[in-house]
Amino acid sequence: MYPAQFDYIRAKSIDEAVTLLKQHGDAAKLLAGGHSLIPAMKLRLARPSVVVDIARIGDLSYIRETGGAIAIGAMTTHHDIESSTVLRDRSPLLAETAAHIGDVQVRNKGTIGGSLAHADPAADYPAAILALDAEIDVVGPRGKRTIKSSAFFLDLLQTALAADELLVEVRVPATAKSVAYVKTEQKASGFALAGVAAVVGADGIRVGVTGVAPVAYRAAAVERALAGQRTPKPETLALAASHAADGVQPLSDIHASADFRAHLAQVNAERAIAKALSRV
Ligand code: FAD
Repeated sequence: MYPAQFDYIRAKSIDEAVTLLKQHGDAAKLLAGGHSLIPAMKLRLARPSVVVDIARIGDLSYIRETGGAIAIGAMTTHHDIESSTVLRDRSPLLAETAAHIGDVQVRNKGTIGGSLAHADPAADYPAAILALDAEIDVVGPRGKRTIKSSAFFLDLLQTALAADELLVEVRVPATAKSVAYVKTEQKASGFALAGVAAVVGADGIRVGVTGVAPVAYRAAAVERALAGQRTPKPETLALAASHAADGVQPLSDIHASADFRAHLAQVNAERAIAKALSRV
């Protein structure tokens, strides 16, 4: 299957990519790893007439510690995140999460920026990004702005990114060690039927859920039920986790019914929080 015809432009810099987005408006799409965009174009779910390739912009692929955070460039691949010693040593949740994505080929080409910008409801990173309370830097014609993860994912395949903005960097805390990601995947693709990320921090336990609803979310009811508890008893944890799908409308499709997804959210929330607590 071939995509509809399009013009291909390779941007050499962030500024050039932003200029091209501004110039072509809704007709343009950025190309990063291509592992979501190209299938969408082949299926005619996306039909850009201009594709702006950002894969060769060198200063968008890095993982480095800055102050109390680890900064990750948008073009950093899932494989680079999975195998990063900085992340594994200092803030392992994203590395653990990246290891769950697709297969080796997907992890070698797919990027964190592309995954977050695409906002697939079954993508893995959003759960971790929400639980880590990450910050996301974007650049557009109006300059640079920082979006909190809690304000980034808006709806199915929709984010707070404007059409003329480029996601350039993600920052996560450098000290989040008591973390875990537990998912039940769709066997053929690896996408999450229900993926839960847990972070145990000084300010409490944060829980991010993906795959269950049209958009990834913080399981606020679970977090509230565990507020102030450093070592919850197993029954307290189980009761808290039973609220993992509160307030959302679980998706239902050929892979899993809404009830099954809600059940998986609860089971995986209990397991992820227990695992994160065991790493304190
Ligand atoms: P692209 O496909 O290049 O772009 C995706 C979208 O984001 C496009 O709309 C593009 O314009 C936009 N975009 C890209 N970069 C930026 C940027 N810097 N700023 C603004 N917009 C941008 N994902 C999972 O999470 N878990 C899985 O288990 C999983 N399994 C997969 C299995 C298969 C077989 C395939 C093909 C994909 C799978 N994926 C999975 C998706 C994969 O992780 C993709 O790599 C990812 O969703 C998109 O990243 P990309 O770099 O390929 O982005």
